[in-house]
Amino acid sequence: MRISMVSEHASPLAVLGGVDAGGQNVHVAALSASLAKRGHSVTVYTRRDNGALPTRVRMRPGVEVVHIDAGPPEPVSKDELLPFMGQLADGISADWDCNPPDIVHGHFWMSGVAALDAARRNYGSGYPVPVLQTFHALGTVKRRHQGVQDTSPAQRAWLEPSVGRNVDRIIATCSDEVFELTAMGVPRSNISIAPCGVDLELFGATGEVEPRGRRHRIMSVGRLVPRKGVDLVVRALRLLKDQGIDDVELLVVGGASGPDGLGGDPEARRLMELAGELGVADQVVLRGQIPQDKIPTVLRSADAVVCVPWYEPFGIVPLEAMACGVPVVAASVGGLIDTVVDRKTGLQVPPKDPEAVACALAELLRDPQLAQELGRAGRKRVRTRYSWDRVAADTEKAYNLARNSGALSGALRQLEGEAL
Ligand code: UDP
Repeated sequence: MRISMVSEHASPLAVLGGVDAGGQNVHVAALSASLAKRGHSVTVYTRRDNGALPTRVRMRPGVEVVHIDAGPPEPVSKDELLPFMGQLADGISADWDCNPPDIVHGHFWMSGVAALDAARRNYGSGYPVPVLQTFHALGTVKRRHQGVQDTSPAQRAWLEPSVGRNVDRIIATCSDEVFELTAMGVPRSNISIAPCGVDLELFGATGEVEPRGRRHRIMSVGRLVPRKGVDLVVRALRLLKDQGIDDVELLVVGGASGPDGLGGDPEARRLMELAGELGVADQVVLRGQIPQDKIPTVLRSADAVVCVPWYEPFGIVPLEAMACGVPVVAASVGGLIDTVVDRKTGLQVPPKDPEAVACALAELLRDPQLAQELGRAGRKRVRTRYSWDRVAADTEKAYNLARNSGALSGALRQLEGEAL
């Protein structure tokens, strides 16, 4: 198949760990690579966010990234990108004149808008291109948790469900997302599930381990934004200290890049202020962004990885930790409900509950044998269920289902076009 991926803000070539560069970038890069290994030819369309970027970049055999002029050629927050989706669709549609796809797969709601727009224009050419969509995150969930802090454009409230209803098929990444989508009005029969995967060549239990001091090491990895709940882990450190467990460091990976580094990162400042107020500043180490190929070395040095976001559409970090044989303390939200099996591959805790995080960490630190067993089981679970090869095979099945229903919904799209 000739597959067009649309990933408006998340380029598969981006450096990870900044505010808008995380799981989606990894997902698009790894899924494209695995689909190419299965013999497909993948073109990823993304916005040009730097004037120096060449238009076409061959990422690897079978995968090409095309940078489209859509808005200023500089970094722009994803919440300000909606006005440029028409330009993105122009660029995609122009490229299809010489590079027509068999299938289009949008990532994030705005890419869905651009993909549907391009597909609708293509409809006039005589054959409908089926459109699939992976949302990665849903506005309804974000709004529920972030309230007025949610900086998504207001149009997301109606455009996102409209994308959900107009695409040929949705690929949800976890069962929790399926509930959210059906609540949004998407028929269950239009939803396939294919989780995110993990790069098992990179993430494994054997390999270099970063040397560390004598203190226990717990770790958090990800974009440094409040909803990732790193402050809850800082609070848990204080609670552990109150129980006499103070030989612990919290290593926080992720955060702003750029000339000011973490110095200019508001969340980094907030976390260090909190740690200072709680008297645990000497136990918190902010490492900043690390290139992904260095993450396994650091993960392997940890006694536990803590992922306690307020909400999490999927969450690749727990899989990466499990692949490295490290037990995970995870909040029971979103994708983490499926990936981390309580008391088998990690410990589940209720969301926003620092006492529960402290309790789970105390249990793991006091019982290294339990920690080891959970780590071993996690590794096995990831290897059997979350390889990108398996995810690509599941995705391919969804593509085939969409191709079989594409003609009908292509026609419907034509009718509903004005609404989008
Ligand atoms: N990551 C990285 N370097 C960093 C911080 C994060 O390579 O400094 C990677 C991390 O290994 C993972 C991804 O970014 O692959 C984060 O994905 P996740 O789904 O956990 O969170 P998201 O950022 O999508 O909310």
